Amino acid sequence: MSRKQVYFFGNAKAEGSAEDKTLLGGKGANLAEMTNLGIPVPPGFTITTEVCAQYYRNNHNFPESLQDEILQHLRELERVQGKHFGDVNDPLLVSVRSGAAVSMPGMMDTVLNLGLNDETVVGLAKKSGNERFAWDAYRRFINMFGNVVLGISHHHFEKEIGRIKKEKKASLDSELDITSVKMVVEAYKQVVLAHHGEGFPQDVYHQLWASVQAVFRSWNNDRAIRYRRINSIIGLEGTAVNVQSMVFGNYGLRSGTGVCFSRDASTGEKVFYGEYLQNAQGEDVVAGIRTPQPLSFLQKDRPHIYEELVTIKDRLEAHYRDMQDIEFTMEEEKLYILQTRNAKRTGIAAVKIAVDMVQENLIDKKAAIIRVSGEQLQQLFHPMIDPEARKKSIVLAKGLNASPGAASGKMVFSAEEAEKSVENGNKVILVRNETSPEDIGGMNVAEGILTATGGMTSHAAVVARGMGRPCVVGCRDMHVYEQYMEIKGKKFQRGEIITIDGNMGEVFAGEVAFIEPSVSNELHTFLNWADEFRLNTKRKERTEFRVRTNADTPQQAQMAREMGAEGIGLCRTEHMFFEDTRIMKFRRMILANNKQDREQALSLLLPLQQSDFEGIFSAMDGLPVTIRLLDPPLHEFLPREDARIRELAEKTGMTELQLRVKIQELSEQNPMLGHRGCRLGITYPEIYQMQVRAIVRASIAVYKQGKRAIPEIMIPLIGAWQELRQTKELVESVIKEELPSDISIPYSIGTMIEIPRAALTAEKIAPYVDFFSFGTNDLTQMTFGFSRDDVNTFLPFYITEGILDEDPFQTLDVEGVGQLVEIGVRKGRSVNKKLKIGICGEHGGDIRSIAFCYEQNFDYVSCSPLRVPTARLAAAQQAVLDDANT
Ligand code: PEP
Ligand code: MG
Repeated sequence: MSRKQVYFFGNAKAEGSAEDKTLLGGKGANLAEMTNLGIPVPPGFTITTEVCAQYYRNNHNFPESLQDEILQHLRELERVQGKHFGDVNDPLLVSVRSGAAVSMPGMMDTVLNLGLNDETVVGLAKKSGNERFAWDAYRRFINMFGNVVLGISHHHFEKEIGRIKKEKKASLDSELDITSVKMVVEAYKQVVLAHHGEGFPQDVYHQLWASVQAVFRSWNNDRAIRYRRINSIIGLEGTAVNVQSMVFGNYGLRSGTGVCFSRDASTGEKVFYGEYLQNAQGEDVVAGIRTPQPLSFLQKDRPHIYEELVTIKDRLEAHYRDMQDIEFTMEEEKLYILQTRNAKRTGIAAVKIAVDMVQENLIDKKAAIIRVSGEQLQQLFHPMIDPEARKKSIVLAKGLNASPGAASGKMVFSAEEAEKSVENGNKVILVRNETSPEDIGGMNVAEGILTATGGMTSHAAVVARGMGRPCVVGCRDMHVYEQYMEIKGKKFQRGEIITIDGNMGEVFAGEVAFIEPSVSNELHTFLNWADEFRLNTKRKERTEFRVRTNADTPQQAQMAREMGAEGIGLCRTEHMFFEDTRIMKFRRMILANNKQDREQALSLLLPLQQSDFEGIFSAMDGLPVTIRLLDPPLHEFLPREDARIRELAEKTGMTELQLRVKIQELSEQNPMLGHRGCRLGITYPEIYQMQVRAIVRASIAVYKQGKRAIPEIMIPLIGAWQELRQTKELVESVIKEELPSDISIPYSIGTMIEIPRAALTAEKIAPYVDFFSFGTNDLTQMTFGFSRDDVNTFLPFYITEGILDEDPFQTLDVEGVGQLVEIGVRKGRSVNKKLKIGICGEHGGDIRSIAFCYEQNFDYVSCSPLRVPTARLAAAQQAVLDDANT
């Protein structure tokens, strides 16, 4: 490796800067930057992330010249500090800390007080005049090194200190006197000998090499890998290592340590706050052994240090143009800044700070838009588990975070029970192995939904998102029976209270406290700014990029409109048939033995559909509404349970046997690939005729009320253009029959592109339609050959094994499915320039998939109502980024 491997910082000059985040990690780059700014930072050097990557490529060996380069920088550090590493009279001590390009708080390892051994500790004691401090530092070092480098579990050390504290009748570590601390050191050395097979290493250089390696290794510990996976941190190859001169907050009462924030990380208010511990090291604050004081304590105790801290905080915030999270230490009344970073914050704080900083002229609107993440924005619209309460609660099981928000309630195991229990005034969580359309009533009244099976586009997930209900699916450790459910051998009875967290995909026993969502003025301002960029940034073929919603009822449409939806991109008409009063009529239609009976049954459904559409058109007055003609296979509307079959037989006057035969006839081996979508419309044209009639009649009725309906009739599951030609003719003939010549309804006809063949032959399909809407749920299912409903039996395994990076039903698989989308857009538009293109699969609410749609010159994305604001933001972010790149 010819590149420079180590970068120095100290004496108000650094070799790196904030620009070098990828190479020096966030911490290293900021230490360099602060040094250059003249902020008092203890000097040190940073070993680059490239070295870590090389270390892994090299089979866990240092690159050849690394040690020499480190030694060179160590000599420089000794020069700057006027101390020597390993000096038995006045030893230079260092910390060895991890620091990746993206912050991964607490996931990787750190070693402090390195450079102490049986001799240097004596020198440190003499030089500092504080023997207890020196030996206490040595004790902490053996513990940390033993744990991080030698892999000895903490509890072995804890046991020893616990034993000695008991002997000495001390309740806190700080109450141990010097003799006792020395005893602890001896005991710790014995722990190392017993578990490591060798004594604690006395060679300070050995300590250094081993610690650097341990930090490299911690890049790939389980915690870190998991954190990167959860936070979708990809493309990084390793961590940097910062070797920095130690400063001590535990020298005595004129020393201390703390953490402070330049604004309030929960509310975003512009107040300086933080915590301080006198006579302590950083880890004491983190470990929560002692309760820290507010910063006002420091202000009273050492006002000049407090003032200096305020000045530095203001400088750092102004310099980084973002809220800072700063670690500081005071050693013998001299202030040092150990770290600064952009502070983590809640969604509310993120929006407020972004808006405030624009108004304070610190950043521009573009920066504000980039700075708030979709996840942070999402938090503002759903209750979330109180982080403090989470710490005290036990996670029973984990599944997929199918629909955001948190909910608590009594467990019920059937939709009927849910409805009854809610009628009796209870709050319930509907717990099922899986849900089916029959459960819709129960899902609607439940606070939340939890299923053992299913993936991100399973029935439960899609419906819950549409309703805005928190939902966790695919909880594989859970088994649901009639009266109880079982998780890892433990039974939970009906009626017991549980809490689900749809943001994290977790299930808790009992009730866990929430934080309710709140909408502020800043949020409106922020989203308006986002819309300016979303709608006005020029792309290759399009400018406006709209955000629509998937909504099936007037209520959902209304909610989505309040969230800023600019139309409906998918109204799944089948959901309207599942309501209790309607399902019987629909079943009569299905069970009809001939066309005449079927038409008779359909005529009873027509006014119901019409009134639904009227409600939706009214709610969406003046905005386009895409209504998809019936899609699911008919057997989904028939009961499966014996009691319900008997009940239906009675109501319809059929014998139970006749009904069972009919159900058998309609059942399919593979319904997802079966008699559904346009195939139904082609074999039972009267169903689609009724639906189109209802759409046109509703449009006219709304028109007569002085409102504007803009219906877009969407034909699902087209694979061949001939299917489309035939269905389109049917649709048009009904429109012709129904629409008087003196009324103008701006209707359009389009299709879903959700079968790979449709994407591949898009140029044959496009001439027949005004729009394409990519149904990426089915398109993903058919491209991968993964069934949407039971993919969760192996998909989690694929992800933990690294076979797939992520769930393709959640984030669009650009590499494969994306190619089909790209072909569909290109071929479609090649014959029909005006072709409007959107997406209505669940990916329409996913941030990265939205970016892809933006790049592909889509006209709109469509997602569930509560994801609309996030989609507006994601689209705006893409517009800002694209604009910056052109
Ligand atoms: C799709 O397939 O992406 C789609 C939106 O339709 P559904 O989920 O109803 O099959
Ligand atoms: Mg579909």
